[in-house]
Amino acid sequence: MTSHLLPTYARVDLAFERGEGAWLIATNGERYLDFASGVAVNALGHAHPRLVRTIEEQARKLWHVSNLYHIPEAEKLAQQLCAASFADTVFFQNSGAEAVECAIKLVRKYQSASGRPERFRIITFEGAFHGRTLAALAATGNKKYLDGFGPPVDGFDQVPFADLAATRAAVGRATAGIMIEPVMGEGGVRVVPHGFLRALRELCDQHGLLLIFDEIQTGIGRTGYLFAYQQTGVTPDVMTLAKALGGGFPIGACLATAEASKGMTVGTHGSTFGGNPLAMTLGLAVLDEITRPGFLEKVRAVALRLKQRLAELRDRYPAVIAEVRGAGLLIGLRMIPAAAEMVDALRAEKMLAVAAGDNVVRLLPPLIVGEAEIAEAVARIDRACTHLAAARTHARETAS
Ligand SMILES: *Cc1c(COP(=O)(O)O)cnc(C)c1O
Repeated sequence: MTSHLLPTYARVDLAFERGEGAWLIATNGERYLDFASGVAVNALGHAHPRLVRTIEEQARKLWHVSNLYHIPEAEKLAQQLCAASFADTVFFQNSGAEAVECAIKLVRKYQSASGRPERFRIITFEGAFHGRTLAALAATGNKKYLDGFGPPVDGFDQVPFADLAATRAAVGRATAGIMIEPVMGEGGVRVVPHGFLRALRELCDQHGLLLIFDEIQTGIGRTGYLFAYQQTGVTPDVMTLAKALGGGFPIGACLATAEASKGMTVGTHGSTFGGNPLAMTLGLAVLDEITRPGFLEKVRAVALRLKQRLAELRDRYPAVIAEVRGAGLLIGLRMIPAAAEMVDALRAEKMLAVAAGDNVVRLLPPLIVGEAEIAEAVARIDRACTHLAAARTHARETAS
């Protein structure tokens, strides 16, 4: 069958028709254990009863009105996100890349409104991922993604991961801010050392720069805390959210302090869809579930248990798994064979995971995952490791 979709994805030959919690049911009826969660999006799993009820009720009332009018649901979600974080203000969009664009604009405008219009450059880190729009891509700095799309948007200086000397050296007269993911997701689940984040905070304070945390992947409970920064002892000035915030409905958000956002006055930014009543109602329901007493404690307990079991597998299969790393339920297995082979081997065991940079397989179960599903996942990963270890032994024997 010829596809009329732009072929920018190497899609797996698999389609789903239904989901239930941590499980996806394929069009051929097979059940898959979903440790991909649509790339860290379905935080409450599939067809969560509260979200189903919320979307049904709101769909009968109001979907969209535009930002020409007050949107009480957006006011409420912004108020709750600010109450739960360092931020004073929120701008809503429809995706992560848009949230990053807003953050970049906000930082530049802050410097301009502070009488320093020459400051527009943002320092980012090798291995980062900030999205696929032209500016977010320039911030990402991945040559493979930039190639053929003309000159990258100016204003980004990339330095090696967690290299403080290089970061210090990159601060110049035109520097406006520093942007980093507290745990690099796409880059291979690399946890940024908290000491490095503290040093970035000091550097920003010293030079009048704004610190942006891109928490599009780490935010909304993924690391076992509502926001990853809360566990680092470092508070940013600006934070981007998206992925899990809508529980599968597209929402992006850029949060900032009053001071950082002081340049963003009437007319400086906009979005037709951003913050519409349907999206906001779902965001409110997701946030309410995740901040329910005990929810994040349970995420942390389940994550610890999973990580312990994975460490045992690493010890048993040293020729397959090199390292287990991550924070909360953002877990990376750095592989010895190609990460893609492990993703395939897991899929053969009817389990979904996502490849990332640095030869890592990402495990991103929904945050509602239970002990039984963790045990099931470990059994399937165990079998996939047996398969990969046997394949390697076989390859070695045929070679000699
Ligand atoms: C996914 C992701 C983005 C991009 O989000 P989109 O919704 O795909 O535009 C940006 N930053 C981080 C850290 C991400 O994980």
